[in-house]
Amino acid sequence: MDNDNRAEYLAPQQDMRFLMDEMPGPVSTGDASIDNNDALFVLDMAAKFAQNELVPINAQCDKEGCTFDNGQVTLPKAMKAAFEQYANDGWMGLSMPEQWGGQALPEKLSTCVGEILTSANHTFSMTPALTMSACRAIISHGTAELKETYLKNMISGKWTGTMCLTESHCGSDLGLIRSKATEQGEHYKISGNKIFISSGKHDGSRNIIHLVLARLEGAPTGIKGLSLFLVPEKIENESAEWVKENGVHCIGIEEKMGMHGNPTCSMSFEASVGYLIGEQNKGINAMFTMMNEMRLGASLQGIGLSERSYQKAVNYAAERTQMRSLTGVKAKDKEADPLLVHPDVRRMLLTQKVLAEGGRALAQFCSDLLEKSHQDDCDKETIKLLDMLTPIAKGFCTETGLESASYAVQIHGGHGYIQETGAEQLYRDGRISTLYEGTTGIQALDLLGRKILGTQGKSLMSFTKLMHQLVKENSDSEPQKALLDVLAKYSKEWPDLTMKIGMKAMKNPDEAGAASFDYLMYSGYVSLAYFWAKMALVAQAILDGKREAKSDSMSTVFLEAKIKNAQFYFDRVLPRAEAHKLAMMAGANSMMDITDEQFLIQG
Ligand SMILES: Cc1cc2nc3c(=O)[nH]c(=O)nc-3n(C[C@H](O)[C@H](O)[C@H](O)COP(=O)(O)OP(=O)(O)OC[C@H]3O[C@@H](n4cnc5c(N)ncnc54)[C@H](O)[C@@H]3O)c2cc1C
Repeated sequence: MDNDNRAEYLAPQQDMRFLMDEMPGPVSTGDASIDNNDALFVLDMAAKFAQNELVPINAQCDKEGCTFDNGQVTLPKAMKAAFEQYANDGWMGLSMPEQWGGQALPEKLSTCVGEILTSANHTFSMTPALTMSACRAIISHGTAELKETYLKNMISGKWTGTMCLTESHCGSDLGLIRSKATEQGEHYKISGNKIFISSGKHDGSRNIIHLVLARLEGAPTGIKGLSLFLVPEKIENESAEWVKENGVHCIGIEEKMGMHGNPTCSMSFEASVGYLIGEQNKGINAMFTMMNEMRLGASLQGIGLSERSYQKAVNYAAERTQMRSLTGVKAKDKEADPLLVHPDVRRMLLTQKVLAEGGRALAQFCSDLLEKSHQDDCDKETIKLLDMLTPIAKGFCTETGLESASYAVQIHGGHGYIQETGAEQLYRDGRISTLYEGTTGIQALDLLGRKILGTQGKSLMSFTKLMHQLVKENSDSEPQKALLDVLAKYSKEWPDLTMKIGMKAMKNPDEAGAASFDYLMYSGYVSLAYFWAKMALVAQAILDGKREAKSDSMSTVFLEAKIKNAQFYFDRVLPRAEAHKLAMMAGANSMMDITDEQFLIQG
């Protein structure tokens, strides 16, 4: 391999085009189509922005960090400049409606751009993602007046958004929220303290629009008593200028493990003017619009992390020489062979690669469903399928993203543990993705409890039906027969296991909790098996001339690698589903029988 001049990161445009152009989506998304050349152009511009502007400032922003001084938060200089450029170039509203200044491009494309941003600079991607998710909640649940007043400024990037859920005593359990709201004529007064608010205060935006969950006086306790409010940092004064303070204060920022270029703020709302989004006491429904978008966004952080970790590690493995290949000297002109010859290094690299590309296929599939879900005529099955795949995408892709980042450190050896190579920053920055937007444990409970058992398995059946169809429609595909046989087995096994867990959970709810994490991971591995089989079939059909590639960028090397990578996935990664199966079917007893006293033995 010629390793001269290999870039630190190149957006995986060929793979993205393969998914967008060659892999048929799950649903018809009507008008949201884009001309191939337009898509190519947008993807290329996004790649250039990420490669030229975001990659070079990643380490610098990590070192510089954000600073807090007397209520003001200063971003690293380069971060502020990059955000300004991003907003001025019109990237914020890529898939937002044109009515408010967006470009109404398909979700598929903005999913690709989202991944590229997070791969290039995880920290940078935070503010745009939060702002656009806040816009989605306003579009879906806000009044016409709120839309008119806020969307254009947010979509242009003049104002940015936040999601204010967490309080010091409540994270996963939002039902405990204590922030209060009092009705005052046409608006509300919001009071309370929130912690860990990403982009809660910074100097990259003229106004910050907070979406705050709070409880109206006299509202029921728990999650059913929460309402969602739009609370601007600044409101209009008598001269219609947006400069009047609204009692929103940042009282500090966190020192943290990674993501130093994005401020994590403690916020205080002191009788701040707020506007209701959606209905009173139904705030959680409105907030879920934002949270679900953010969960899919977090899945892109996991996928982007796997991709970036692979690229970083493979470049290093091609260059660094240590020991000789087990089968004899490969690089005769060198005193040792490149790391790339060693099977164990190849295992780690290929694992990163199949997790990135498999995750990307899942994300593209979800983005098609998301596109459809924004349309008025969306059917319930599409919504249920998207609801089910969201916790899988979020939980599985972030867990496996971290695994990939850990391999990036491992492949760099001791050099991965020191700052200079940048591998450790990938891990530090990425570590948050399994925690925020609902921890993996919460995604797992949501998947098994609400999304699967709560729909009597209907959402699952819509997906296993697709698996079954793929197997049936390709029964004559000799090269992929072995993969399809395995897929057929899982399409039957997954619902069977679910039913068994459901039966046990009816007698003892702890059975669902005890199975949930392994169930999530099992579901992730099996879902990716579907996408890998499908990708292999499409690549094979193009190579065999049975199907004409829509895009001329599909090289033979790329297509052949797809098929080999699918084989690696089935041989070396999918078997992990078996271990998760055994663990999730083992029941709750071995964890629930331990007494508190036994847990707390010390010394
Ligand atoms: C850098 C950063 C940025 C953030 N950004 C935002 C933001 O912009 N807006 C915002 O509102 N919040 C934000 N958060 C908060 C984040 O969403 C929460 O930290 C997260 O939801 C977990 O809540 P917690 O920290 O209180 O943990 P806890 O809820 O206390 O959970 C602790 C552990 O217990 C597990 N657990 C809890 N309940 C259960 C259960 N019923 N079953 C099984 N396991 C359970 C969890 O999975 C976790 O492993 C951010 C946090 C950080 C660190």
